[in-house]
Amino acid sequence: MDNKNTLFADIILPLPIPKLYTYSIPSELEQKIKTGHRVIVQFGKKKLYSAIVCNIHNNKPEKYKTKKIISILDEKPIINNLQLKFWKWISEYYMCSLGEVYKAALPSGLKLESETKIIYNESFSEHKNLNDTEYLIINILEKRNILTINEISSLIESSKSLSVIKNLINKNAVYVVEKIKDSYKPKLVKYVKLPDDFKNKKNLNTLLDKLQKAPKQFELLVTYLTLSEFLNNKTPKEVTKKELLERVKATDQTLNSLVKKNALIIYEKEVGRLKENIISLKKSSKLNDFQAKAYNKIKQDFINKDVTLLHGVTSSGKTEIYIKLINDIIATGKQVLYLLPEIALTTQIINRLKNIFGKKVGIYHSKFNDSERVEIWNKVLNNDENSYKVILGVRSSIFLPFNNLGLIIIDEEHENTYKQFDPVPRYHARDCAIVLGKLHNAKILLGTATPSIESYYNSKNKKFGYVELTQRYKEIQLPEVIIADTKTAYRKKQMKSFFSPVLLENIETALKNKEQVILFQNRRGYSPYLECSVCGWIPECEHCNVSLTYHKYFNNLNCHYCGYTLNNPANCLACGSTSMETKGFGTEKIEDEIAIFFPEAKIARMDLDTTRSRYAYQRIISDFENNNVDILIGTQMISKGLDFDNVRIVGILNADNMLNYPDFRASERSFQLMLQVSGRAGRSEKRGKVIIQTSNPAHPIIHFVMNNDYISFYENQIKERKKFNYPPFNRLIKITIKHKNPETLNIASKQLANKLKPIFGKRLLGPQAPVINRIQNWYLKTILIKIEKDKSFSKAKTYLYKTSNELKHTKDYGNLQIVFDVDPM
Ligand code: ADP
Ligand code: ZN
Ligand code: ZN
Repeated sequence: MDNKNTLFADIILPLPIPKLYTYSIPSELEQKIKTGHRVIVQFGKKKLYSAIVCNIHNNKPEKYKTKKIISILDEKPIINNLQLKFWKWISEYYMCSLGEVYKAALPSGLKLESETKIIYNESFSEHKNLNDTEYLIINILEKRNILTINEISSLIESSKSLSVIKNLINKNAVYVVEKIKDSYKPKLVKYVKLPDDFKNKKNLNTLLDKLQKAPKQFELLVTYLTLSEFLNNKTPKEVTKKELLERVKATDQTLNSLVKKNALIIYEKEVGRLKENIISLKKSSKLNDFQAKAYNKIKQDFINKDVTLLHGVTSSGKTEIYIKLINDIIATGKQVLYLLPEIALTTQIINRLKNIFGKKVGIYHSKFNDSERVEIWNKVLNNDENSYKVILGVRSSIFLPFNNLGLIIIDEEHENTYKQFDPVPRYHARDCAIVLGKLHNAKILLGTATPSIESYYNSKNKKFGYVELTQRYKEIQLPEVIIADTKTAYRKKQMKSFFSPVLLENIETALKNKEQVILFQNRRGYSPYLECSVCGWIPECEHCNVSLTYHKYFNNLNCHYCGYTLNNPANCLACGSTSMETKGFGTEKIEDEIAIFFPEAKIARMDLDTTRSRYAYQRIISDFENNNVDILIGTQMISKGLDFDNVRIVGILNADNMLNYPDFRASERSFQLMLQVSGRAGRSEKRGKVIIQTSNPAHPIIHFVMNNDYISFYENQIKERKKFNYPPFNRLIKITIKHKNPETLNIASKQLANKLKPIFGKRLLGPQAPVINRIQNWYLKTILIKIEKDKSFSKAKTYLYKTSNELKHTKDYGNLQIVFDVDPM
């Protein structure tokens, strides 16, 4: 073979290997292969992967003998060149490999490898569309339920296995799961309906006549007709099987006889599924004068600036302005990405967008199952008349295969949930979205009522445009803020449970007036810890250095860092006494305690524990919207952007634990959180009230919140940031060193610091033990690097990377992990 003519491809494997791997392209694939294609390759001894072609060239690697690409998985590339550029930027900026970006970017259904687990889709029924090989696999899966790709490869010719699986995924016959326990099992409810034939009254009469002989069946059918209001309703109401059987006191058997006669049909539906209402499209609202002015100013800023900050108070109508801008962009044929920090928020805004943009808008977040995510991916990729033009999504939607973005909106841009903490890449979706926008020549709009210090700084320095909205839409005043001094109240014994008199009074009045209440507590669970009142023993996680949180509903103790759970010990495990006391309070306890004071009120809770299932957000939010709930208790999940009409009172139960958190962003975060939660009150009719409980009413941040004074807050913070060399003046990299042996960790982290000191000098802080210095049996030390804005960031990173790698490969340290977090939050 003439080597000169052999083509090679550099391949991105879904692995944390620092370099791309080169494979040779077999001649039969030469004409077909393109960058962005998924290909099947073998890596290591026997493992197969679906990997991405990053570039194609003639340069034979000198150091190793190349393997051949086995096959191409897709007709057309599924990754475009802009995405590849974007991935490269992420991997360089956030110090990770391209393989790790690839793993984060694609839904698991598009990433296949030997260990990937395939499960059978139980509602699959189109067996006739399968070819022989596919049929064989499905047959086995129906019995076994789960197979790994490795197992499938041993059943059929292994070079074909990945493409067979790909086809099964496309045909919706199987799902891919990365972690079995995460796989979503929808909760189904059985409904009963009449077959279309009997919608004809004549046919129905004949049927009823026939059934006279079977009185129980007759009664059941008639009851169905009554419940569904069939006779006076064009679209009969849906009737559940349970409801029907209970009403007639009939058994399954009676119903089944009717089903056999084709007189009734049983069908299943997921509970809580978004109602697929037929949407009649509405026109977007007419902007009021302030909004129109802001809209025009944004357009004007976009002439000279790529990024503009829209600083608009809560409920000023920022979303209405976004809608207008989206309209403008999609009219030019371009795509729009609309980012939100929280799934809860997407469920509310999607309805507003669907009303206006109909099928053009798609939604993307982690509560979708994998095949749905693949479907959405394809609906962005194809970019034809059936594709989504607007994507509303959480941070991971920056990875969708956009090819023609015109606008990116980053709503609630200050939110730290935009930062991915684990696993790698530890990216910040706002910052990435700005880079992504620039790659597309798109405009970027940051929206918030409480800008991050960084973004406000950038707009003051003219790097970003700046547009302000200081009026609420209906010109309702921002809520009145009342401070409840809990220290004094506790001393005077005025506190009832965790509630100050002023909070209880206000809740009472609101409930009397049929108005709603939101109570905010930034801690889930019942109480953050238990303590033995005899010997002082506190149950701690076996694997982490934290106390376990007590969850009453599950009656267990749970570690919020690793998930470890312990059954609630009746006795102290140290001294055996039975007097274990709960200390502090989380949302679950608030829910219990508030019910004591307002036994008539309907209470709901929204936190991580109550929103694990897919439609939980939707259900809680719509219950609250429809006034089926009077008091909503929640964590920071309820602080963001939700728009409810009837909320009069917002209570912040404990401002202290936010303010006292040991982090340079604690003040900023508390300010934003308090102002945001406050923003949920009094949005539509009357002015709302916010009651902040704190033991430190003199705290400057409390003061800024009371006066809704963003500018003073900013001035106060920016001084501190400057003084202590924090962002936006410096950039930070946090290095976490992990080892299972605390002594080894001590030595290794000191050695790393010593190696880095000559280069970084005073810019290096540490090593030090973080507040929680052991997680999942790994002991932790951190080193913080602060680099001035004018110094080379990439040089620093290269050096850090190199030095850490050398240390990691020192024999004495065995399994040492070094993790980088660029721009830590
Ligand atoms: P923000 O995003 O700034 O918090 P929203 O866009 O959610 O504010 O607006 C708050 C409420 O006021 C929403 O219910 C919205 O429908 C309504 N609203 C805002 N502007 C208009 C407008 N121009 N016409 C009609 N309703 C509006
Ligand atoms: Zn004890
Ligand atoms: Zn733990």
